[in-house]
Amino acid sequence: MNVEPAWCPACVISRMVSGRSAIRNSNMAPSHWPDCDSPSRSRACNHTRTFSAVASVSSRNFPNLTVLSHPLIQHKLTILRDKRTSTRDFKQLVNEIAMLMAYEVTKDLPLEPVEIETPLEKMSGSQVAGKKLTLVPILRAGLGMVEGISQLIPSARVGHIGLYRNHDTLQPVDYYFKIPSGEADRAFFLLDPMLATGGSAVAAVSALARAGAPVQRIRFMCLVCAPEGVKAMLDAHPKVPVYAASLDRELNSKGYILPGLGDAGDRLFGTR
Ligand code: URA
Repeated sequence: MNVEPAWCPACVISRMVSGRSAIRNSNMAPSHWPDCDSPSRSRACNHTRTFSAVASVSSRNFPNLTVLSHPLIQHKLTILRDKRTSTRDFKQLVNEIAMLMAYEVTKDLPLEPVEIETPLEKMSGSQVAGKKLTLVPILRAGLGMVEGISQLIPSARVGHIGLYRNHDTLQPVDYYFKIPSGEADRAFFLLDPMLATGGSAVAAVSALARAGAPVQRIRFMCLVCAPEGVKAMLDAHPKVPVYAASLDRELNSKGYILPGLGDAGDRLFGTR
């Protein structure tokens, strides 16, 4: 169950990440948290109990969104955003954040009993129910999240969706689609570090659904999202939960998330 803090993520997360000075430079979208009752946005709060107890934050304006505010996720995300971070570190951080997020995102997966034998006696244990989980990175930046999650869930299958964003129209163009068989019985984790306009995410969910994936078993994981993208997902696929490490402020005129982290694909693969 998500914990609703009394304060907006700007107040909770900014302090958690960078300490007092971050509040003044908060990049989060305050308009999405009108009910925040933090004593002052210009001062760090001293409500330490709030953020240390919060594992995840669900937005009131976006019922489909869960922001995972674990301190390690936020710490690593800040390094990831820094333009001085090298390609090698960027790649490693994306994997580490994805792994930490996966721990949270999978916390309500249904279990089924399984009979095993310890060296001492028989017992009934638990295992994740159903067919192997399926990771579906949206090419190419989504690939950066696969390794980290696979370390946590080594038996996961991996499908791929190739979509790219036309930089003029900002519309998704698809060129590749391959997922494992048994779609109807699988849980899908759609991966893309950036949920910007939402065009690719919406198209990817539609493609999975067309291929027979049950929409109620699709979860979307990103590192950074923009309000525009979360809204697009809510409008098009309201049953698909979106998990992010941060809800950022807005998109710029070129469709980049602000403050964001730049082009995730280029930073992952060193192609800029
Ligand atoms: N894709 C990216 O890689 N970065 C953005 O900011 C938006 C979309």
